[in-house]
Amino acid sequence: MYLNNIVEAIGNTPLVKLNSVTKGIPGTILAKVEYFNPGNSVKDRMAIRMVEDAEKAGLLKPGGTIIEGTSGNTGMGLALAAIAKGYKTIFVMSDKQSKEKQDILRAVGAQVVVCPVDVAPDDPRSYYSVARRLNQETPNSFYPNQYDNLSNAAAHYETTGPEVWQQTEGRITHFAAGVGTGGTICGVSKYLKEQNPDVYTLGLDTYGSVFKKYKETGIFDVNEIYPYKTEGIGEDILPKNVNFDLIDQFIKVGDKEAALMTRRLAKEEGLFVGWSCGSAVHGALEYAKENLKADDTMVILLPDHGTRYLGKVYNDEWMRAQGWLD
Ligand code: PMP
Repeated sequence: MYLNNIVEAIGNTPLVKLNSVTKGIPGTILAKVEYFNPGNSVKDRMAIRMVEDAEKAGLLKPGGTIIEGTSGNTGMGLALAAIAKGYKTIFVMSDKQSKEKQDILRAVGAQVVVCPVDVAPDDPRSYYSVARRLNQETPNSFYPNQYDNLSNAAAHYETTGPEVWQQTEGRITHFAAGVGTGGTICGVSKYLKEQNPDVYTLGLDTYGSVFKKYKETGIFDVNEIYPYKTEGIGEDILPKNVNFDLIDQFIKVGDKEAALMTRRLAKEEGLFVGWSCGSAVHGALEYAKENLKADDTMVILLPDHGTRYLGKVYNDEWMRAQGWLD
């Protein structure tokens, strides 16, 4: 029994009950642990799907180069897909992303271009702009654009959503996930709501991001945009993969609360997960404390692995320098 290549190991991640951080909170609270994917993140699922859809559409041809703007995890997923299928990869990321993420991408053979984070999305130096320009300049290249490429949400509609439904034997009542491109929550939500329209979906957002205000008022408020530290969630754009009708409520979680919960997940649950996992759990539990009933089942999706944050949330000195640890 063997897999033909590593991308065949994507998906079918475990659902694990949270036992300690949930003490005193009603209901059954389960974590969908996505670091079990071969690239150690949820993004493996959409990466392979974007590549295969592009091949079918004739957008990606043999010998081609995949160029993407990525906070790291999508890059890892695309790199694994590229290795399995014989493509080259160039990833453009902002300088706010951890050094580990850059090093990991280089380790799997990608070329990495780092851009400043503190410029507007339409600035030619932004990672969005640089990725687009490299795509125009590089012959036979493909720019997946995870934000607006609907293969992203489709991957979760076809894999993550059905897995969560089957693993809870249809008992899921609440689904919570951080929102970056929106692919994860919207793909999963669409599938779950088709099975049971009463499943309630919670999108975790950050301070410094436009999503929550836009959902509540329909206003794209530039005053909502300011620097924050959490990686992978919150945006200063409205990606096409975010379908606001599929996200019932947004909750904002601060960088510090997210970092502290991430560390608790490692120490108390044995889940050595990434920073946005702390955001997702902190925000979902705030909601659960007030709203969950004893027979409810909530699933919280944990996107990635802790190795990528060893220099930050898992580093006591770094935490103290932020003023987040005594
Ligand atoms: N957490 C991390 C660490 C991520 O890399 C991402 C992807 N940007 C997310 C959460 C959010 O997932 P999505 O893009 O599917 O909304």
